[in-house]
Amino acid sequence: MGNFFSFRTMVSNTAIKIVYVLGVIGITLAGGTLAAEARDNGTLIFLGIFVLGQIVWRLLCEAWILFFSMHEQLVHIRAGLNQDTSAPISVSNTAPSCAQCGNPLPKGADFCGICGKPAK
Ligand SMILES: [Zn+2]
Repeated sequence: MGNFFSFRTMVSNTAIKIVYVLGVIGITLAGGTLAAEARDNGTLIFLGIFVLGQIVWRLLCEAWILFFSMHEQLVHIRAGLNQDTSAPISVSNTAPSCAQCGNPLPKGADFCGICGKPAK
């Protein structure tokens, strides 16, 4: 609950889905109202507002969700980084390095990425 009020827990994904459905209903109603008020071309106006509106609204909501999911990913990454910094630095000490140029080798690497010498 503390996380909720400090905005660390994002309600956005659920909220955006609800807002999206409300928007779809609103766009449909607005398109229908404007089309009903138009004397000619009512069907065209409705289709234009409906199709364009739904596409634009969908894209907006997707961008919104994407933005917040990026935030969530960053929070996870930061949490992971915080764990790593509290642990003793052992990766660089135990990681193998190239015998020829000293380039640190990623785990499971067969060849040095810098000079191409086989790791073993
Ligand atoms: Zn090397």
